[in-house]
Amino acid sequence: YARRAERVVRSVCPFCGVGCAVDLHVRGGRLERVDGAPGPANDGRLCVKGRFGMDYVHHPQRLTTPLIRRPDAPKDPSLLAPGPDGRPDPAALWAQFRPATWEEALDAAAAGLARVRDAARAQGLRGRAVPVAGFGSAKGSNEEAYLFQKLLRSAFGTHNVDHCTRLCHASSVAALMEGIGSGAVSNPVRDCAHADLIVLIGANPAQNHPVAASWIKNAVRRGARLVLADPRRTELARHAWRTLAFKPGTDVALLNALLHVIVTEGLVDEAFVAQRVHPGDLEALRAHLQAFSPEAMAPVCGIDAATLREVARAYATAPAAMIFWGMGVSQHAHGTDNARALIALALLTGQIGRPGTGLHPLRGQNNVQGASDAGLIPMVLPDYRRVADPLARAAAEAAWGLPPGALPDEPGLTVVEILDAAHEGRIHAMLIQGENPAMSDPDVAHARAALARLEHLVVIDIFLTETAALADVVLPATAWPEKTGSVTNTDRLVQLGRPALAPPGQARADAWILEQLARRLGLDWHYGIDPLGGAPEPGSGIGRVFDEMAGLMPALAGLTWARLLRVGAITHPVAGPDDPGRPIVFTEGFPTADGRARLVPARLTAPAEPPDADYPYVLITGRQLEHWHTGAMTRRSAVLDALEPAPHVSLHPALLARLGLRAGQPVRLRTRRGSVTVATRADEAVPDGAAFLPFAYAEAAANLLTIAALDPVAKIAEVKHCAVAIEPV
Ligand code: SF4
Repeated sequence: YARRAERVVRSVCPFCGVGCAVDLHVRGGRLERVDGAPGPANDGRLCVKGRFGMDYVHHPQRLTTPLIRRPDAPKDPSLLAPGPDGRPDPAALWAQFRPATWEEALDAAAAGLARVRDAARAQGLRGRAVPVAGFGSAKGSNEEAYLFQKLLRSAFGTHNVDHCTRLCHASSVAALMEGIGSGAVSNPVRDCAHADLIVLIGANPAQNHPVAASWIKNAVRRGARLVLADPRRTELARHAWRTLAFKPGTDVALLNALLHVIVTEGLVDEAFVAQRVHPGDLEALRAHLQAFSPEAMAPVCGIDAATLREVARAYATAPAAMIFWGMGVSQHAHGTDNARALIALALLTGQIGRPGTGLHPLRGQNNVQGASDAGLIPMVLPDYRRVADPLARAAAEAAWGLPPGALPDEPGLTVVEILDAAHEGRIHAMLIQGENPAMSDPDVAHARAALARLEHLVVIDIFLTETAALADVVLPATAWPEKTGSVTNTDRLVQLGRPALAPPGQARADAWILEQLARRLGLDWHYGIDPLGGAPEPGSGIGRVFDEMAGLMPALAGLTWARLLRVGAITHPVAGPDDPGRPIVFTEGFPTADGRARLVPARLTAPAEPPDADYPYVLITGRQLEHWHTGAMTRRSAVLDALEPAPHVSLHPALLARLGLRAGQPVRLRTRRGSVTVATRADEAVPDGAAFLPFAYAEAAANLLTIAALDPVAKIAEVKHCAVAIEPV
C-alpha cells in the first residue's frame, strides 16, 4: 500500500498526551491512511483515535474563510441547545456570520481588542484589572502557545492568559511545584518496564491513553504488580494485583491511610528522607497522619484496613514502584491535597529518582505539557518562571522588546475566574485559540452566558465550535497535519510535527494569524511565518519562534530548531548541545532552592456537593476511548462517530433496576445547575449510586451539570464529583 501513497510524512498524533509518532500517508491532497511510526513513546503502536480518527481534517464543516458576525445576529447561547435531531442546529449557528476577507477580519479582530485595551489604559488599569483575557491551546504547537502568551502579555500588559491545564492537571502541577520544584513527570511512561509495582489512581488509560495502557499491561505480563485505585472498576482491573474501588471523592482518606502505615510500621526510607527532604517535614507529617489509621479511614473510603495495610507495605518495600495518576485525582476541589499525598508516598519511601520509580501525572491533551512549559499560564512565564520574579520579567521584557516594567508582577486570572469576570462585566474582550470553553468549562450555562456578554470575542479554530458560535470574529486555522511545529508529550518528549496537507480554502496557520494580530496591535513582530503552515527548514519563521522560546527556557538550553530537525525527538531538560536529554530526573536532588523536597500534609475535605435527598447520586464526568474532549474533532471522524454516535450515561445494573429501567431507556440527569436527557447504558464498572457521563456531546453536555467549585490552591474545578438526580423520562 505504501507504494500507492504519493507522500508519507512523519508527524505526531494530535489527540492524547502519549504523543505517538505517526506516518501520514497522503494521496491527491488527502490523508488516506495513518500508521504508527517507531517513535520513542509508541514504537509503532497506535490506538483507534490515532489510526482512524484523523479524517476530521477533511470534514465539510471545516472553516475555510474568515467570518464576521452579522449586525442583526445577537449572541444567543440558546442556539447551542439541542435541536429536533438532538444536536444544535448547524444552519442556525452559521447564519449568524458573513464571510470576510482576511484583511477585513484581522482588522476587525484587532480593532475590537485594541478598543478595549485603549479604554483600559485611559483609566490606568493594569495587570489582572485589564479587561482583556486569552485562552490558548494545548492542541496547538509549542510555538503557537509561546506566541499566544507573548501576544497577550506584550500587547495588553496582563497575565490574564490560561489554557485547559487549569481544568486538567493544575492541581497536580501546584502540588509538584510546591513539593519537588517541578511540575513535570519524573519518569516516562515506558519506564514502567522497570517497575516492580505500579500504582494507577484516578486514571483510565485504557480509554484515555491507550498506548500508555499497553506499556503498563506489558509490565504486568513481565511480573510487575498493578494496584488500581479508582471508584470505577476500569478495564485495567483485569490486570490488577489489587483493585481499590474507593468511594468517589475520598482520595485523601485512602492515601493518608497508606501514608499512616508507612510512618507507623517503620517503612520510611530514613536515609533518603534525611538526604533529600526538608528537615522537620517528616515529623510534622507523622503528627498529621496520626488521625488517619487504616481502621479509621476504612469506613470513609470504603477499602478495608487489611487491604490498605497490604498495599502500603507492598509499595514501600518494592525495589522500584511507580505512580501514575489522572484527572480522577486532579479534578477535585481537593485536587492539590490529593497530589500532595501521592508525592509524600514517593518521598517517604525513596521511590523517586531511579528507573521504574517516580511520579507521572498522565497529561491529557497532546501538548498540555508543552503549552505549560511555554508559559500559557497566568502565574508563570516560559519555563515556569514566576511572574513575581523580577529577573524573569526583565528577561522576557528584553527578549520581547518591551520597556522595563511593562510586565506586571501579579499573576493573571485563571480560566474559571476569567469567565466569572466576563459574567460580571470585568472582562470585556477575549482571544481564544483552539479551545472550547462553551463545552469544556464547569457549569457551562454560566460560561456560555459569560462568553455571550463579551463586548468582543475573537476565536481562532478549525471548526465553528460552540465557543466560535458566540464570537464576533472567527479566524479559520490549520489542523495539526497541515502545519509545522513542535509538541511536548506527557514524558517531556519534544517532537516535531511536519505538514502533510495544505490548509483547506483560506484557512491559515495559527502562528501566522497570531503574528498578523500582533502587528495590528502595535507589536513589531516579523518572524516571517508561512501562512500555509510551511516546511520546517532551518531559518524558517516557525524555527525562529522556537529558538526565541528556547532562549528563555533553561530546560531547552541545549535545543535549537536545527537540532530538533536533525533528531526529531528529544526529552527535556536538555542542558547543552551534546546532552541527549533526561528521560529520568531528580536522580541527584530536586530543583528547589536547597535541592530538597517538601512533605506537605494533605487535608481531608468533603466534596463540595455531596449527595442529598434531592440529588441522591454522584455524577462523574470524563472521556471515552472513541471521542476526544469536547468532540470537535472526533465527532467529525467517520469511524469514531460510527463507533460512538450518541451520548449515553453509564449506570450500574443494580441502580438501573432500582430506577425501573432497562439499558437504553432515556433518563433526565438533573443537578442544581441544569439538566440533560440521555440514553442509559449498563456498566458494572460504575459504582452503584454513581453516574458516568462523557463530556464530548453537545446534545447532552455534561458540563451543563457540573459544579464550578474550585480547588483553593490551583483553581481547578471539581468536575469529577457533584450531586445529581436521575429521573426516568
Ligand atoms: Fe494518539 Fe494517544 Fe492514541 Fe497514541 S494513545 S494514538 S497519542 S490518542
